[in-house]
Amino acid sequence: MNISTATPTLARPRAIERLIIGQATSDGDGVKLTRVLTQDLQRRLDPFLMLDAFGTDNPGDYIGGFPDHPHRGFETVTYMLDGRMRHRDSAGNQGLLSGGGVQWMTAGRGVIHSEMPEQEAGRMEGFQLWLNLPARDKMCPPWYRDIPASEIPEVKTPEGVAVRVIAGASHGTDGAMQREATQPLYLDLTLPAGTVFEQPLPAAHNAFVYVYRGEIVVAGQAVPRQRMAILANTPGSDGVRLQGGAEGARAILIAGQPLNEPIAQYGPFVMNSNEEIFQAVEDFRAGRLA
Ligand code: FE
Repeated sequence: MNISTATPTLARPRAIERLIIGQATSDGDGVKLTRVLTQDLQRRLDPFLMLDAFGTDNPGDYIGGFPDHPHRGFETVTYMLDGRMRHRDSAGNQGLLSGGGVQWMTAGRGVIHSEMPEQEAGRMEGFQLWLNLPARDKMCPPWYRDIPASEIPEVKTPEGVAVRVIAGASHGTDGAMQREATQPLYLDLTLPAGTVFEQPLPAAHNAFVYVYRGEIVVAGQAVPRQRMAILANTPGSDGVRLQGGAEGARAILIAGQPLNEPIAQYGPFVMNSNEEIFQAVEDFRAGRLA
């Protein structure tokens, strides 16, 4: 754990543009989850395509897991807060994702994988984020990295905010992952009551925060638990300032550089045109994705 000595002071922090309530849904073999970033927000939150939040103490909500399914054209970032999930893919990779760990998978030209709970009881909680790939990288070879909790850098600000830096950088600490094209920032913040956290952000980067414990305040507006706040891209703004509510809070802060390329999605395939989607479906049917 690094102790940050310099707190940046923002002159023009962003306001909230919109609060979003996630949609309850299920995916895989009946896994109950909340889709926070839905397809209608893909353009607004480019380069991010989806954010699912899952959190339950009931094994019936997760035990089916996500049996074999394909992906092409983007990256999946799974952040496990609690529970254990076994990952296997068609390239022969496998790994165990457990509390505080991240799995970063680049589907590229194609992968077939399963994500199955490795527990029959207890709590399962976490997030899956989909991050787009630029057109030039969509057909790259698949790749993945399991990042155990111990390899995710943490920084504590002078105010006492604990920051797990999954991607990008915060308070002088580089995160576990960097991506040049989309410059993703992915922070997990633990804010004791009343503490303030500041993160510089380029005004053009799309950014949102999702609160999963307690409540935060952004520019005078409260963001309750299980809400996503889309942060305004106000020209000349220099970052985001969050404050923990009376009972403290935990939240993920995510931002990235938009790709500004066409988005064509059909289920687990995200390409730039319908032709490329037809090709992905055909390749999958013909067994060329594995
Ligand atoms: Fe998957």
